[in-house]
Amino acid sequence: MKKEEQKKLEEQLRSQEKKTKEQLQHFKEGLDFGNDTDHLEEKADETEEFGTWIGLKRILEHQLDRIRHALAKIGVGSYGHCERCGKEIEPALLDIDPESALCMSCKKKEGKKR
Ligand SMILES: [Zn+2]
Repeated sequence: MKKEEQKKLEEQLRSQEKKTKEQLQHFKEGLDFGNDTDHLEEKADETEEFGTWIGLKRILEHQLDRIRHALAKIGVGSYGHCERCGKEIEPALLDIDPESALCMSCKKKEGKKR
């Protein structure tokens, strides 16, 4: 991978990391219901919403993990290589999914397995 290409992807990853962190921060603030006793009748709704929030929060945390993992790989110089077969990950795939740890064909195999 060319240096400038990696630089571009690194910038993308960093801005994504920042955005994801901000979203997670909003979740933390949003989940602080406090002693909101005036809204006890809305408890059921809140519980439902809570479940959705937890799900979204998990997705965001997972996303953040992947981004950090990719950034760590940039740091040690192994970024852009598939973690399964060691081949270079297709630039087109990194374009749409810069935190991808697998190449296109390994990703497909992984997808079939699950
Ligand atoms: Zn691979």
